[in-house]
Amino acid sequence: MAKIPYKIYLDEKEIPRSWYNVRADMKNKPAPLLNPGTLQPMKAEELEGVFCKELIAQELDNDTAFFKIPDEIVEFYKMYRPSPLMRAYRLEKKLGTPAKIYYKFEGNNTSGSHKLNSAIAQAYYAKKQGLKGVTTETGAGQWGTALSMACAYFDLDCKVYMVKVSYEQKPFRREVMRTYGASVTPSPSMETEVGKRILAEHPGTTGSLGCAISEAVEVATTSEGYRYVLGSVLNQVLLHQSVIGLETKAALDKIGEKADIIVGCAGGGSNLGGLIAPFMGEKLRGENDYKIIAVEPSSCPSFTRGKFAYDFCDTGMICPLAKMYTLGSGFIPAPNHAGGLRFHGMSTILSQLYHDGYMEATSYKQTDVFEAAELFARTEGILPAPESSHAIKGAIDEALKCKEAGEEKTIVFGLTGTGYFDMVAYESFHDGKMSDHIPTDEEISQSLAKLPKSE
Ligand SMILES: *Cc1c(COP(=O)(O)O)cnc(C)c1O
Repeated sequence: MAKIPYKIYLDEKEIPRSWYNVRADMKNKPAPLLNPGTLQPMKAEELEGVFCKELIAQELDNDTAFFKIPDEIVEFYKMYRPSPLMRAYRLEKKLGTPAKIYYKFEGNNTSGSHKLNSAIAQAYYAKKQGLKGVTTETGAGQWGTALSMACAYFDLDCKVYMVKVSYEQKPFRREVMRTYGASVTPSPSMETEVGKRILAEHPGTTGSLGCAISEAVEVATTSEGYRYVLGSVLNQVLLHQSVIGLETKAALDKIGEKADIIVGCAGGGSNLGGLIAPFMGEKLRGENDYKIIAVEPSSCPSFTRGKFAYDFCDTGMICPLAKMYTLGSGFIPAPNHAGGLRFHGMSTILSQLYHDGYMEATSYKQTDVFEAAELFARTEGILPAPESSHAIKGAIDEALKCKEAGEEKTIVFGLTGTGYFDMVAYESFHDGKMSDHIPTDEEISQSLAKLPKSE
């Protein structure tokens, strides 16, 4: 019999009461957002037309280590948190590795991913400010689903701009959002000025996250009582997602285990930033060392092939500039099945940490990722989201390295969600029809040549 159980559960009382802000322990702080017109750091007042006030305070605060989680949010978290930390005994056995593999499973709620952790926080602050509603974009649909659940809970209106290709390929996601009361519009649309402009420039485009962000921001800033919310990339989102890492650390401490390697998939960086937060804090303070690996798709390789530079967060170039690893805001990745990983940039916090050598990054092509997903489903039973499967693939590769070296390391990875709405992707994999689009060096350098000149 295994000494450590398959599931390491925390008690409801052990839900974190504060979010941890890793910026407080960073010597080199993430670079500030810049006003796209003046190229000066954005001030809180300038952001108030777009974002909720308290969220702006969280966004700009590089020094406060802990933010109290309001009781109403803790109450909501109780519906699905603490999430389990699982020991992947069956996967370990299948791989024949001496490594110990753990995964933090965030797919245990109806929205099916970690995104609900921040959605509920953002909806709470919008409600507290007395707003009528919020606008947002969604790629694969997970963020839109999470936000529509959170808005239903606080009785807020929710307008979602959904990347057109997903809107058409994922009608079930769309209906889940409508069930929670959200309105869902395919993007680019003819409803906004920026949507019309993008459609005129790229007729027939199936959209991108960057386009949908531009539309949602335009609607928020031109509608009374609305603000825009974003499900990844921003500092505030990483702050909210720190519940993942805080719980993971508490569960490991409970069983007397120390992680050696921590792996997460990286789209905009929020789940990874949240998972690693307390561990990175220890690393930054020199208390402990961890090998931290970000895994991204080869089709959208921001860390591994992008440039660390100021860039727009959206295709319409109306949002502030962020200093991050980017492929260029005009980069529209090939229609890879991991919709949540198709953003051209990366969190400024993770970008700075990666730049300073505190973490590593790697990329995989999607057929390899789906092979890992299938192995995981067959051994561990959970049907993983394509995004999460990047982390699975990363963890498997680390476990196989341990096998070769005969090392008993402890690997922890983030299993961000379930893949029930991604069966079209699984189908194309099973039918041997899945292709691996990898952008050429020319494509990437052409896109990077259009970066804004800010330095
Ligand atoms: C959105 C999403 C991701 C990627 O977003 P991050 O902000 O990088 O965490 C990963 N997994 C799932 C299941 C998602 O929905």
